[in-house]
Order: sequence, then structure tokens, then C-alpha cells
Amino acid sequence: MESCNFNPYEMAQQQFKGVAELLELEPATRSLLGDSLREFNFAIPVKMDDGSSKVFRGFRVQHNDSRGPCKGGIRFHPQETIDTVRALAMWMTWKCAVVDIPLGGGKGGVICDPHNLSEGEQERLCRGWVRQMAKNVGPLSDIPAPDVMTNAQHMLWMLDEYEAINGKKFPGFITGKPVGMGGSLGRTEATGYGVIFTVREALKELKINPQDTSASFQGFGNVSQYAIELYNQLGGTAICVSCWDQKESKAFAYKRTSGIDLKELKSISDRFGGIDKEKAKELGYEVLPGDDWIKQDVDILIPAALENQLNEETICNISDKVKVVAEGANGPTTPEADKVLKEKNIYLIPDFLANAGGVTCSYFEQVQCNMNYFWDRNEVLGKLDKKMTTAFIAVSDLARKKKLYMRDAAYVIAISRVATACADRGWV
Ligand code: NAD
Repeated sequence: MESCNFNPYEMAQQQFKGVAELLELEPATRSLLGDSLREFNFAIPVKMDDGSSKVFRGFRVQHNDSRGPCKGGIRFHPQETIDTVRALAMWMTWKCAVVDIPLGGGKGGVICDPHNLSEGEQERLCRGWVRQMAKNVGPLSDIPAPDVMTNAQHMLWMLDEYEAINGKKFPGFITGKPVGMGGSLGRTEATGYGVIFTVREALKELKINPQDTSASFQGFGNVSQYAIELYNQLGGTAICVSCWDQKESKAFAYKRTSGIDLKELKSISDRFGGIDKEKAKELGYEVLPGDDWIKQDVDILIPAALENQLNEETICNISDKVKVVAEGANGPTTPEADKVLKEKNIYLIPDFLANAGGVTCSYFEQVQCNMNYFWDRNEVLGKLDKKMTTAFIAVSDLARKKKLYMRDAAYVIAISRVATACADRGWV
């Protein structure tokens, strides 16, 4: 998932070490929180449609469960690595803590490319993952969810396998299920909407009217599409989006200065969030190199695709007009780029706060499954707004009072909560 020299786990650990120093954490607490609690690395044999067998590599990392069961997605990606999974599991711990939900951090993955797998092969892969992990996951220990290139159907196959193994119904075992099969209304839009709830609050602080702003997005998948939807509803103008072109194996950016038309672009994109380049051209969009999303003269930049996008090399391309960076993706900004954002006094909304809407709504899904009673969409999104706004205000208050960079303030809140839970349990 990372470019050759970028290791997200090293970055996650570097960020943690800086804050551990600031908080003067004890050495034992540092070594406990600075690494995974448990890791699973396993083989998943799958019968392929042509009768052959293929063995896939699967992972599950449980970073910390002092505040509650681990929670985190399962990614399907050809370049998945254990270090990416470790970093994401650690970030999940901080994410659940910063929005104050009673869950810990986990993440899983499989090295595979679902583009090249039939439905049947994907189903057998999902069931195989659960067979390997069934003893070590569950509604009271570790709850998976969809992530990059996994979806509600994958979750339902995994749930079915888990329930078959255990001989009982466990709707709270996994989240991101289809609505009507234990899924929560509002989950699909939760992460993108959550990003914009935090952008709305940041603009309030900066005394900027959303209607006077423009934004550029990296990615046109789940997070980006719903972020654009709510941002447009607030009156903002999204002028550029970039995405991966599967045919040409490179990214392109699509621009319209007067504002992109979300519905129109959705109608010419595939289920992986790839826009049809020729159709976009016909509709009058300017087609630019993939990296150009970052160079736009906009007020808000929303990286919502990959890690390591704002880095030492690309950060100099940011326009002086940019006032807010809201991280929809996990780990899009490297510590070197952070320094530049700080110098330029750009308002950063860090990933584990900005994109926490997904896990917060997944938590609501679990709560609803446990009650066997489901809320309507407005109730879910209202609760989500309240949670995200409260978390945002706590972080920005601390940042202002202690003159901290927003990422550090969010880390201070999250890491303190987890460190306290570990100490209160008598672990360290
Ligand atoms: P997605 O798979 O739905 O969409 C990803 C988008 O990124 C697609 O449009 C794809 O074309 C684009 N992309 C891929 N490579 C690119 C490149 N090199 N340049 C430009 N665009 C590229 O994924 P998603 O669910 O929207 O997630 C996006 C990011 O947000 C990921 O980092 C994910 O971990 C993070 N995230 C997602 C959720 C969630 O609930 N979906 C929650 C928290 C964090």
C-alpha cells in the first residue's frame, strides 16, 4: 500500500513517541502502547473456480483493548503488508479513544486483488479468513468491519461463517453489514459526513462561511463521495477530485472551476471509485495528472484515498490559499509535511479525528444489534454529529489552550485515555 520507502508503522510509532515524550509516559506504558498487543499472521487456502487451490496470506492485529473490544476493518489489497495493518490498528486505538467510544484498536487484511477474483472465490476467501480467526475475534473481543476493497457483502459472508462455527446468532460480531441484515442506516455516509462535520466546526472557528469556500479531494470512493455530498449541502464548491484509473494504471484529477457535479461524476464511475476518463472529457471536465488535486487554489484540501500523499516532495505544491486540511484517509500526511503545515499555520484536522465517523457509526451498529432495535437514519446521523462535534471541540480547545498542533492535541487526549485505562486495569 505504500511507496517503496514509506513505512506507515514507522510513522505511527514516530507520532506516538513524540506524544509519549510530551505526556512523560512511564517506560512500560510506552512499550505497551508503542506496539501491538497481539498479532495473527496466517494462511488462507481457497478453492478457485478452475479447480486449483490458492493460498492467500491473512493478517489481524489487535493493538490495544484496554478500553473495550478491538475494532477495525479488513482490507483486501495486492500490496497489503503487516506493517500497514499494524499502523492502522494503532491508529484505530487512538481513533476510538478520541471520540470516546468504548472500543480498542484492531485491523486486518488479506494480500489479494478482488478485481481478479470471482464472487465465489471472494466468498470462500472471506469464510477462510473467519475460519482462521474465529477463536480470536467476536462481539466481546474483536469486531471486524469493511475497509479498502471490502464491502457489506463480504461482511455478511464473514458473519454467516462465524455464526455457523459457533452455532448461534451473533449480529454484533461484525459491522458494515447490509441494512436489513443487521446493518445501520447512515453507515455508508458516516465517514464522509463525519469529515465534513469537523470541517464545518473548523470553519466556524476560523470565522469562514462554508459558502465562500472551495475544496479539492483526493479519491472518489466512499469517503470522498459522501464528504462532497455534505460539503455541497453546506454550500461549499468542490472543484477537483482525483482517482485511480484501473485501465491506465495511474491516477488522474478531474477539474471544473465552477464546481464538479457529484451526481454526474457518480454516474460515470465504477464501484471502486474510478471515473471513466473519456466520459469525463465528453462532459467537459479538465483532465489533469493525478497529483494535481493538491495544487489547486482552494480553501480546503481533503486527502481521502491513500497514505503518504502530503509528504516532503508534494507539500511544496500546496497553494497559499489553503486554510484547512481535513484528512479523510488514514496517514496521508508525513511528519515532514506536518512541519510545513504548522509553519504555514494551516488548520489540520487529523485523520483519526476527521475520519472517526465510520467507526463511531459502526459502534452504533453494534449497539443497535445488541438491542435488536434499529434507529432511523436521522437518529443515527444526529448522534454521529453530536459525537464528532464534541470530540472536535475537545481537541481544538486543548490545542488552543496548550498551543498545540491539532494532531498533537488529538493524540494527547487519545493516548492519555488509553494510558489511564491500562493503568487503572493494573496492566502497567
Ligand atoms: P474506496 O476504496 O471507496 O475509494 C478509494 C478512492 O481512492 C477511489 O476513488 C480510488 O480510485 C482512489 N485512489 C486510489 N489510488 C489513488 C491514487 N493513487 N490517486 C488518487 N486516487 C486514488 O475507499 P474509501 O472507503 O473511500 O477510503 C478512502 C480512505 O479513507 C482510505 O485511506 C481508508 O482507509 C480511509 N477510511 C475509510 C473509512 C470508511 O468508512 N470507508 C473510514 C476511515 C478511514
